[in-house]
Amino acid sequence: MNVFREAKRIVIKVGTAVLTGGGEELDIDYMASLARQIVSITHSITQRDDSKTAAADEKQTAGRIVTLVSSGAIRAGKSQLGLIDLHAISEKQAAAAVGQVQLMSIYRDLFWRHGVHVAQVLLTRDDVAVRQRFLNARNTFQKLFEWGVLPIVNENDTVATEEIKFGDNDQLAALVGLVIDADLVIMLSDVDGFYLPSGKVDVVTQITDEMMEAAEESKSGLGTGGMYSKLQAAKVAMDCGIPLVIAHGRHPDVLERVISGEAIGTLFIPRRRLPAKKRWLAYAPKTRGRIVVNEGAMLQILHHGKSLLPAGVIAVEGKFDAGDVVALTDEHGRIFAKGMVAYNSDELRRVAGLHTSKIESVLGYKPSDEVVHRNNLVIV
Ligand code: GLU
Repeated sequence: MNVFREAKRIVIKVGTAVLTGGGEELDIDYMASLARQIVSITHSITQRDDSKTAAADEKQTAGRIVTLVSSGAIRAGKSQLGLIDLHAISEKQAAAAVGQVQLMSIYRDLFWRHGVHVAQVLLTRDDVAVRQRFLNARNTFQKLFEWGVLPIVNENDTVATEEIKFGDNDQLAALVGLVIDADLVIMLSDVDGFYLPSGKVDVVTQITDEMMEAAEESKSGLGTGGMYSKLQAAKVAMDCGIPLVIAHGRHPDVLERVISGEAIGTLFIPRRRLPAKKRWLAYAPKTRGRIVVNEGAMLQILHHGKSLLPAGVIAVEGKFDAGDVVALTDEHGRIFAKGMVAYNSDELRRVAGLHTSKIESVLGYKPSDEVVHRNNLVIV
């Protein structure tokens, strides 16, 4: 398949360094060109449509659906308030709260020139990691797309403490890709791709340690990102089965050129595309506990795609509820899978190692034949 031309759901991420062009303030001319390019690659969400709903729906399927992930809030707030340096996290958070207003108001005006409404979506990691919130976010995006509205996402900096932070908008962009089921993520950066000492790499099918080391050495000053975090984001996207491109955001017509397949950046191509629920399981959630699995059951899971039954459970670590995501480990504690568990930890301790036919007599009921059903399980 042509990764680019056939991509219908696209996440475009633009970083602070690109938005400011290295200066102190947002570069509105650049943002105008970005808006024009986004409109031009989407078509379907570009025209003002007064007949709304049904027609808008149809138009969506005809064209592309784009979500923009934009940084720049902290920088905008800083320059608006005339602050020199921001040290404390709370200062950055407060500057982001100020700057986010400016950022969105600029985007709103620029996109409206093309008849496109925009929506502000602020997310934290928990909004992706907690299944119910993830589904809520997904529904909201879906409705915005149906309405022909362009979602513009940033991290919810006000509440994003270390624990729940994406860290930077690179990771956020990859995970937004997961939320909206993207088939392409485009990272607009201030470098034109990923470099090894031998030169620019056009296509990457696997991220190696050597690449991570090369990336660690490069750092861009303005955003929190840099190449290292871009590679981490690329890894997340690839593992979710989403191709990702890093390209220079200031190349003329960069979006059109990427979409038309021109090799102006670095393309990361995934090897597999998991079903939607498994993609979420593989990346988003933190696990709540661990289930130690015997070797026979582990081999059945790994090589024959089987579910985990109570008989395969040796031990249970931690406290979890039914519906939580847990890690499955071998007898030496090595994690080999993650899955959504149908038993809570107390129940599971009581039935560990038992044949399924014995469950009801021990618990008085049977939550499920499987402890972790294969549809709710992903190998890691
Ligand atoms: N959320 C931050 C902002 O809008 C940017 C984070 C990043 O640099 O990626 O300023």
